[in-house]
Order: sequence, then C-alpha cells, then structure tokens
Amino acid sequence: MSKSESVLRIAIPSPLYSSFDYLPPADVDVSKLKPGVRLRLPFGRSQTIGILLETSRTPQVERHKLKPALELLDHEPLLPKELLKLLHWVSDYYHHPIGETFATALPVALRQGEAASAKHRSLWRITPAGREVDTGPLAKRAKRQADLLDRLRASQNGLTADKLKELPRNWIDAMASLVKKGWVEMEQIPALEYGHEQPEQGPELNEAQHNAVERIQNCIGLFSPFLLDGVTGSGKTEIYLRSIDTVLNAGQQALVLVPEITLTPQLVERFKRRFNTPMAVLHSGLNDRERLNAWLLARNGEASIIIGTRSAVFTPLQNPGIIIIDEEHDPSFKQQSGLRYSARDLAVVRAQRLDIPVILGSATPSLESLLNVEQGRYQHLHLPQRAGNAKPPKVELLDVRNQHMEEQLSAPMLQLIQTHLDKGNQVLLFLNRRGFSPTLICHECGWVAHCRRCDTHMTLHMHKRQLRCHHCGSQRPVPQQCPDCGSADLRPLGSGTERIETALAQHFPDSAISRIDRDSTRNKGSLEAILADINRGDSRLLIGTQMLAKGHHFPNVTLVGILDGDQGLFGVDFRAGERMAQLIIQVAGRAGRADKPGRVVIQTHHPDNPMLQLLCQQGYHAYAKAAQSERQLAALPPYAHMALLRAEASQSLPPESFLEQAKQLAQQLGATGIDLYGPMPAVMEKRAGKYRYQLLLQAEKRSDLHRLLKQWTPKLQTLPEVRKVRWSLDVDPVDLI
Ligand code: ADP
Ligand code: ZN
Ligand code: ZN
Repeated sequence: MSKSESVLRIAIPSPLYSSFDYLPPADVDVSKLKPGVRLRLPFGRSQTIGILLETSRTPQVERHKLKPALELLDHEPLLPKELLKLLHWVSDYYHHPIGETFATALPVALRQGEAASAKHRSLWRITPAGREVDTGPLAKRAKRQADLLDRLRASQNGLTADKLKELPRNWIDAMASLVKKGWVEMEQIPALEYGHEQPEQGPELNEAQHNAVERIQNCIGLFSPFLLDGVTGSGKTEIYLRSIDTVLNAGQQALVLVPEITLTPQLVERFKRRFNTPMAVLHSGLNDRERLNAWLLARNGEASIIIGTRSAVFTPLQNPGIIIIDEEHDPSFKQQSGLRYSARDLAVVRAQRLDIPVILGSATPSLESLLNVEQGRYQHLHLPQRAGNAKPPKVELLDVRNQHMEEQLSAPMLQLIQTHLDKGNQVLLFLNRRGFSPTLICHECGWVAHCRRCDTHMTLHMHKRQLRCHHCGSQRPVPQQCPDCGSADLRPLGSGTERIETALAQHFPDSAISRIDRDSTRNKGSLEAILADINRGDSRLLIGTQMLAKGHHFPNVTLVGILDGDQGLFGVDFRAGERMAQLIIQVAGRAGRADKPGRVVIQTHHPDNPMLQLLCQQGYHAYAKAAQSERQLAALPPYAHMALLRAEASQSLPPESFLEQAKQLAQQLGATGIDLYGPMPAVMEKRAGKYRYQLLLQAEKRSDLHRLLKQWTPKLQTLPEVRKVRWSLDVDPVDLI
C-alpha cells in the first residue's frame, strides 16, 4: 500500500465520540466508495458493522496500526446525502457519539448486516383474455378457478395473497392454472399496505380549514413550518389528508409522525380510505425484517406515504414533499434513552434542509411551538371550532378538601357519576399515572411542603421518609403533622387505576367497567376489544390513563372526571402544569356530541388556583399565555435552554462525585452564560438498584450552552470517576426526573 492511499473513516456503534479509521478491504477500489455504505470490520476481538463517513488521506492514528476492513456490504449508499448530513448534525447537536447516532437511525436488520434489498410480493390481475371467459361453464369443472376469476374481474388493482386469505389454502393451485391458461398475469409489487381502490373524497371543507389548506398548498416546495392549532375534532386530520393529496399529485412523498398511542388501525384505515397508494406503516408490531422492508421502500420511493412513530423521522425518502407531526406537544416524540433526540424538533430541522413544508398539529400546542409562532418562525393556522355540530364540553373544578375520599373518588364525584349513569350515559374517569407520587398534601387544608429557599414544592422520598427540593437540593424529614392546620392527615398525591376500579365496582355493582391502561391492554387485540365494548355501550364506566386521552371518541360519554387535578400543580417537573393542562383538554375532547354535550369535572384541593381557574374558564390558550409569562419570569424553557447530565451507579457516592468533577470541569472550561445546578439526586433516587444523580446546565442563549457542551462532553470520558458510573447527556430534556 502506498503512503498516500486513502483510509476509510467509519462510524461504529460505540460510546466513544470519535470515528474509526480502517484500511479498505483488499479487493475494493477506494475511489469508487461513497459515504453511506456499510462495511464489516474487525473490532477488538470480534467483528462489527460500520458506516463509511468519508475517505481521508490523513489517518487519525499511525498508518501501520490500521487494520483492513473485512468486507464491503453495499454497492450503493444506504442513506441519501441529505440524511447523512442530518445525522452529522444530530450527533453535533445532541453531543452524542457519531457511531451510536447512525446506529439509532438505521433499522436493526441493517445494523446486523442483512442485505439492503426490498421484499416484494405477488399481485394477480386478470388479462383481457381472462375477461372474455364465461365463468358459468367453468364453474362446473373448476369452481375454484371460476371464483378467482370473478374476484379478479371485480378488482381494479388486482389481488394479493392477503386479500385471498379467507379462501381454502389450495387457491394457489387454481391461480397457477389460470396463469398457465393466460387468463391471469402475475407481477411483483412492494410489500406495503395499500389504500382502497375507490378512495373517498372527504367532506367539504369549512372556511377555516379551507384557508389553512390554501396556505399550506402555497408553500409546497418551500421550507415553511406551520402550527396547526385546532381543538379536538376541528378537522386537523382532514387538513393533513388534503395537504398529502397535493404532495402526492406532485409525485412526492409524505412523512407522518404520530405518538405511539395514536398509531391505531383506525388511523391507518382513515388514510387507506382516502388514498389509493402504497403506504409504509412503521408500527411497533413490525418485526425487524418488515421494518427494514418499509424503510427500503420509502428510500426507493415506492411507498408514497410513510406513517410512523418517533424513529420514523429518520426514514430515508426518495422524493420528500411534506412532513406532518400530529399531537406535536406529545412527550413521546422525545427519545428517553441512548440518543435523546426530539423527533418533532428534528422533523423541523429536516424539513428546513429539504426545503419542504412541515405541519405541527395539536389541540394543545407546546409552549415551545406557541413561542415560535409569536416570534414569527412558524405560521399559525387556527381552527377554533369543532367541524361537526358538537359543542366543546364545560370544564369545572370540584373542591375535595375535607371530603370523604375512596381511592381518589370524592363523595360528590360518586354522586355525579350516579346521576349520569341513571340517565343511561357513559362516564369516563381519568387518572394521570405518569411519574409517581411527587409530593405530600394535607387532606384538610391543602398544604403542600414548599422549599424554604426556592419557589417550588418539596418532593416526597418515601423510602427515606424525607422531603427534598429538586432545585437546590435542601432536605428535611417528613413532618408528622400539617404545619398549617396541625392535621395528621398528610397523604402522598396519587394512587393507581386498579384500586379505583375495585372501588367503583363496589359502588356501582350494576354497571360494567372498562379499564384502559398499559396493564389492561398488554395483549394484542385487547385494546380493540375494550374499545368495542365501550362503543357498543356494554361498558358504562371507563377508567383509564393517558391511553384513554388520545385518538378515540366516545360520543355517549357525558361526564369526564379528572381525579387528580392537583398533580399538575405540584409535579416534579416545571412542565408538569403544561402537561396536565394538555391532558385535561385532550381528555375533555373525548366526550360529547351535538345532542349530548359533555361535562368535565376536575377534583382538586386548590379550587382557587389561578392557573386551574384560567384553564377551566378561558381554555387552553389563556392558560398557555399565563404559563408562558411564568416561564419567562423564572427563566425556564422555552425562554432558556437546558441540558441534563445524568449519572447512576450501584452506590450513591460515585454518581455524585462524578457529577461534581463534571461541574468543576465545566467551570474550568469557563461556563460563560451558564448556570450549573447540582449535583442532586434524581426524583426517584434509587431505581432498579441504581442510585441516580443529575447535574442541570441552563443558559439563556442556546449558543452559550452548545459552546460549552462541545468542549465538555468528550472530556467527561476522562474524569477519574467515569469508570464507576453510567452517564448520559440529555440536550433539551423534556423530563427532569
Ligand atoms: P381532528 O384531527 O382535529 O381531531 P378530524 O379531522 O378527525 O379532527 O375531524 C373530526 C370529525 O369531523 C371527523 O369525523 C371528520 O370526518 C369530520 N370533519 C372534518 N372536517 C369536516 C368538514 N369540513 N365537514 C364535515 N365533517 C368534517
Ligand atoms: Zn430549593
Ligand atoms: Zn393542613
């Protein structure tokens, strides 16, 4: 090998920040290699698969130490240039190792070395000769063949095996005979989901929808972010469908991101009814091979609509036309392990680089997106009314101080439930179980423990019987009595759906109850079965968590009870209030129709809380405005930028001292414009046998924060305590717990 020969710079899944250099495989012409191909590589004592980032004449280590790559796995780059560049950007922005960034973006099957060839399947279509055949006489000799011919004749697009699966298994032999006779032809088509042959038109748009669609259509081929801000049922999905239609007519693809919870068969069916086109649906039920197939068919342009959850933001697209993010406020768009990216934020970055429109839709937009509208970065599309005749429900507060409670059900709530059941209606009870009991509340007066040094409440740490402040770290023992009223009735906030279900069953023995949460819907098809019960009216009482809040509509529900309205007031996280407000509005949106308006009742110990009152009386936008002012005053996101360094270990000392060292390192590097908070224990200090600590970095200017992170993050690896902990960096964290 000559001295000047190029080496391969490769991204390998590894916690190291650097890329790795290799010599080219023996039989490969380096000048023909393009970034984005995979190579099999020797790595330590085993092998691994990496992605070529670039070729270089200046190796990062001495040439004689380099090993040759073993095998070239792809002839063409797996990732288009656009995506390669985006992943470099992602690695920079989240300060995450390049190899792991690439690994996150690639389907598992490709990481394991599977060939990048898309699977196709057979499609049978009738030929002109087949159309001439009189199936009457044929049926006497070969009934199966005649049946098949009749079916094929009726179908415009032809039939695939999945449309014939209810036939006896040997239909395949009959089909083969038909092909042999020249009455049927077979072709290979991409293994995707297909829309209906006669797509529906969709309703006539109302004026607000019409304006919104027009503004989006005017921006095809331009980077233009839109916040589609419309109450539940205002027809946002209808706007997505029209915009997608425009893009498809221009021969382009549409990428649609939705929260896991809302990627239901009903949603997919709605898309299928409207578009006679191949779609890639990236749901969690796919196996690795199916996922790879969908990915490849998006990449080569055969899938025109791609619907998926968070990770679908990395789908390669042949000819992208629009990106849509439904429920943009939903926290599930943020990945909470490994590469902690926000699919929503990345979708906007990607749309910008592609010069295409991106629609962020929500009934309860995040404060981040509302600020982007205010600052003129996003266009605002507003749908103020429900599309049909249904009226928005009335939202009220129910004071539960001093009320007798049974598993979070107050006596007046039980009374209300009874009234609505007596009228033959359904009742939905909602419990926000995300997170866990954050604080201690006095059941007599509503007192909660506040930090003496910060304007925040203390968090309950059960196993140590301590109250702690997660801002400044101060702590004190759990009091025996309420310091305000002397009551000994101090309770942790919150309890589970299962216990509530039991209590309901005792109270309303004649009404069937459906519970919807992660436990009750674990088995495949169980959610569908429960929803069917509800829609038939078999269940009268519904109790559930977030899973109930989205995507479904229950027209016979006339009462929605929110059992733990106080959680949002005293959540651990500064976003707890925003989350609770969003959930309340989302849950409220499930109920009611024109002739049966809904009523939403929130149980609270704080009926005078101005934020809760604002939400109930003036709605989400008034609430959001006030919440924005609060955040601005407190210098919190979106008016500040955060990064959270987390560390954990089996003992409590190493994470704390690692973070202390990290803090000192930041200070040495000159953390101009940055406030450092901590180290402090995580809210759930001990989880799965690990002690968890965190260090919060906060800056008014994003650039200040990223300047420090760029120098600091790679050096964390060199800190003395680093070997004793597992650490991770979270840029723009959405949960501080
Ligand atoms: P969102 O996505 O905002 O919740 P959808 O698009 O699902 O709203 O619309 C809610 C319901 O109203 C759906 O059943 C939809 O078919 C219907 N709908 C939407 N737009 C119209 C319209 N312009 N006229 C009549 N019905 C409409
Ligand atoms: Zn404090
Ligand atoms: Zn009290």
